[in-house]
Amino acid sequence: MELNNIDIESIVKQVMNQVSSDSIETNTVQNKVVPNTARVAMLTDIKKIEVKEYEIPSINDDEMLIKVEGCGICGTDVHEYKGDPFSLIPVVLGHEGTGEIVKIGKNINNDTIGNNITIGDKIVTSTIPCGVCDSCLTMSDKDNLCESSGIYGLIPDDNKKFNGWFGDYLIIRKGSTFFKVNDMDLKTRLLIEPAAVAVHAVERAKSTGLLSFNSTVLIQGCGPIGLLVLAVARTMGIENIIAVDGDVNRLEMAKRLGAKHTINFRNYKDNEQVVLRVKEITKRGADFAFQCTGVPQAAANIWKFVKRGGGLCEVGFFVDNGNCSINPHFDICNKEITLVGSWVYKVSDYPITLDFLRRAKGINLPIEDLITHEYPLDKLNEAMETNMKQSGIKIAYVNN
Ligand SMILES: [Zn+2]
Ligand SMILES: [Zn+2]
Repeated sequence: MELNNIDIESIVKQVMNQVSSDSIETNTVQNKVVPNTARVAMLTDIKKIEVKEYEIPSINDDEMLIKVEGCGICGTDVHEYKGDPFSLIPVVLGHEGTGEIVKIGKNINNDTIGNNITIGDKIVTSTIPCGVCDSCLTMSDKDNLCESSGIYGLIPDDNKKFNGWFGDYLIIRKGSTFFKVNDMDLKTRLLIEPAAVAVHAVERAKSTGLLSFNSTVLIQGCGPIGLLVLAVARTMGIENIIAVDGDVNRLEMAKRLGAKHTINFRNYKDNEQVVLRVKEITKRGADFAFQCTGVPQAAANIWKFVKRGGGLCEVGFFVDNGNCSINPHFDICNKEITLVGSWVYKVSDYPITLDFLRRAKGINLPIEDLITHEYPLDKLNEAMETNMKQSGIKIAYVNN
């Protein structure tokens, strides 16, 4: 084909038009409307959360701006709200959040596992390992043990302001770990972070070699973590699950998530009677037990439920609730129990967690029913009080 100058000119024009209309289209996708100012719920004093409005700073090439859709309330948030043990006040709490990318720095193209990301994608965040402490340098496969790991919602107030998920917006900083979760509904996304805690606990349990699909597993404590541990175990194919708690509603939820037996310890005179009931069900005791309460006495009691040669995972004490006493002869040596502790989660537990949540849906476990209460940003004091009363299971801030 022969081209004269006029043809070339018209082709160039056509291409240029195409390019500019493409870029207009891209710009339309990228130009999410972001206000100049936005609200955060700041803990300004013990038991006092105030909604404050700040200018949203511009983001740099390594940052993202997220429009917050919601954030679960964690026991850690409540702990800080009640007494500021971490000395963070003033602080914007909330680490179990999810939202939509509305601005993205030009150096960010992928999430932590390499998925392409762009404006409009929904994400959740994991931790921000420091990379320089002794744990990070000597145990890079255990980033959960980083000695100064950052986490949104526990970052002290600074000039960026949008540091926690209890706000309208959040700024994601350089070095953060985050995951694209577009295929999940909001309630499921709100449960990803606590589900990662549960997945990590089960991964720790598996490391003992004592957990298999036909194990008898006992879960003590049916708060959000215990119930999620239960759901992980059930999704792995474990059917012989015993849930222990003192609340009928939580035990009912445990049943719905796959517990074969439930034990309400309040119906028994003492722990010895509960042990008898566990033995009635299991004959020799549970093959493996997960301790998911923050109650020292419960941490002492659980050893009695485990069979000789069995295993135990302690996952209940993310804060210091005091000591308990056990009998080293009867509880540990003589039964030769393998104990594992579980601390938060590794970044690498997130892909497993997303897989767990999809599979749990696949076998119709009503995971999203764990969220029993939703509050707007200006009702977070009330949300904290509801959490402290332990009425309900997972309380969440939802930004409608
Ligand atoms: Zn948490
Ligand atoms: Zn570190």
